[in-house]
Order: sequence, then structure tokens, then C-alpha cells
Amino acid sequence: MKSKLVHVELDDSGLPCRIFRDRSWRNFPEDHIAIMTKADAVKAIRERVYERCGGDSPAGGELHECERCGRYIRWDSFEMNEKIPKGSGGEVSLSNCEALCHDCHQGHPDSAHGNRRWQSAKIKSEEGH
Ligand SMILES: [Zn+2]
Ligand SMILES: [Zn+2]
Repeated sequence: MKSKLVHVELDDSGLPCRIFRDRSWRNFPEDHIAIMTKADAVKAIRERVYERCGGDSPAGGELHECERCGRYIRWDSFEMNEKIPKGSGGEVSLSNCEALCHDCHQGHPDSAHGNRRWQSAKIKSEEGH
């Protein structure tokens, strides 16, 4: 599968902080723009979101915490949520994305996607009767 190329914004550290959805990258200085595959761009931003919620563990090493409830999360199990969903114009960016545990993301009625998911589960069960 050929990976799609996207324009990304680089912040002052030179790392990706946002994937442009439109052509507004044209208004940015050249050294704040990069072109990369969408997969690489999403991965880079995911890494930074994860990094943001991390800190040193008193026992050594690093701990990362869910940005809503503070529960410990791990790289292979945390879920990246877009606060403004893509369908509503949200971007994959440091400011629009948060690192959540499964419960805060969709595993609970009042989680980020809880309403939608629990509502449709309810409709399904009502249809079944
Ligand atoms: Zn959580
Ligand atoms: Zn989400």
C-alpha cells in the first residue's frame, strides 16, 4: 500500500506538531514545514503526545499517565483521542490530541466516545426485542 504524503508543521524543536488538513502550510516559513508519509506523521505526533504525559518514576524509569484520569498508561495500550473529531474539522496535532486510557476513551458511558458507543449499544439491544 502506498502511503499518502502530508504536510506537517514543525515547532521550534524541529519536531512535527500538526498535520495540515488544508493548504494553510503555505503561510508558514519553509523551515517549519515538512513533507512526510501520513503514517510517519501520525506516529511522530503520537510519540510526542505520549511523551507529554510522562514523568520520572520514583522507582526509576518513566511513568505515563492518562491525561484525563491519571491512571498509568503504556505505549502499546494507550489510545490517542482527537478532542475535536476529524469529521468536525479536528486535526492530528499536539493541541487536539490527548493520551487516554481505554476507559476514558471509549470504555465508559461518560468517556470521550462513551455516549456514541453506549447509545448505539442501547439501540441495538432495543432493536433486538
Ligand atoms: Zn483515563
Ligand atoms: Zn477518540
